[in-house]
Amino acid sequence: MPVRNRSAIARVGKGTHEQGSQMVNFGFSFIGACVPSWLRRLCQGTAGLDRKIAQLRMSLYLDTQSCICWTCACGFDKTSRRVKQSVVTLDMEGVLTPEIWIAVAEKTGIAELRRTTRDEPDYDKLMRMRLAILDKHGLKLSDIQSVIATLRPLPGAKEFLDELREVVQVIILSDTFEQFAAPLLRQFGWPTLLCHRLVVRDDKIIDYALRIPDQKRQAVAAFKRLNYNVIAVGDSFNDTAMLLEADVGFLFHAPEVVKRQFPQFTAVETYPELLALIKAKLD
Ligand SMILES: [Mg+2]
Repeated sequence: MPVRNRSAIARVGKGTHEQGSQMVNFGFSFIGACVPSWLRRLCQGTAGLDRKIAQLRMSLYLDTQSCICWTCACGFDKTSRRVKQSVVTLDMEGVLTPEIWIAVAEKTGIAELRRTTRDEPDYDKLMRMRLAILDKHGLKLSDIQSVIATLRPLPGAKEFLDELREVVQVIILSDTFEQFAAPLLRQFGWPTLLCHRLVVRDDKIIDYALRIPDQKRQAVAAFKRLNYNVIAVGDSFNDTAMLLEADVGFLFHAPEVVKRQFPQFTAVETYPELLALIKAKLD
């Protein structure tokens, strides 16, 4: 049996899976067009017993293709009855916790470290600037970790997250780093966090490594491919790609510059309001 034609049917099936049973009718009409040319020629160019054998081959071929098509159609028909579920993706800093770098700026007195993703849309540019400042001032990873250890969740954030996690799965998507996040996650009861990793040598931060570029948007896109209704919440420029990718996006505690640039997202200022809006959008 020609593998080429089988894959052609599979391609057609994939493209029409949302139509469910319509696929069956379309599939059967498609079979006729799939009969390979060598088999057509054999039926037309032979006589007597040879011709009967050729016709029998064509009949078997069509029956086999029918089974494949029917199986594909039934499979896709089942998938059209899949249950849509929801997942919520939250930014961390500014939504659940204070901005880590601002806390470091205040603790160290280095004003330049106050610049965050709220001010600088180019994340690589921002991180290169931060690493250069750390190097200039001889600040080590342990210095920053000691500052992070003093941070607490934003008022009401723990209660908000606890209540939200009772009704829906929540993933925190952050552009922070594994080495920074642990003390904060502990205070929230270890929710799931997807983030990046610092490159550290002898307690000195020498670089940072992205697991993948554009990870927030890519994570949301992946959840959508898993048939999730994705509700995303963020506060900064580095959240807007995931908000645009999500089924629903909310801005929380966002600065005016972000709100002005992205008026399509409902901007929320309190956890009870955010919780109510998310619950209303759950599948
Ligand atoms: Mg943020």
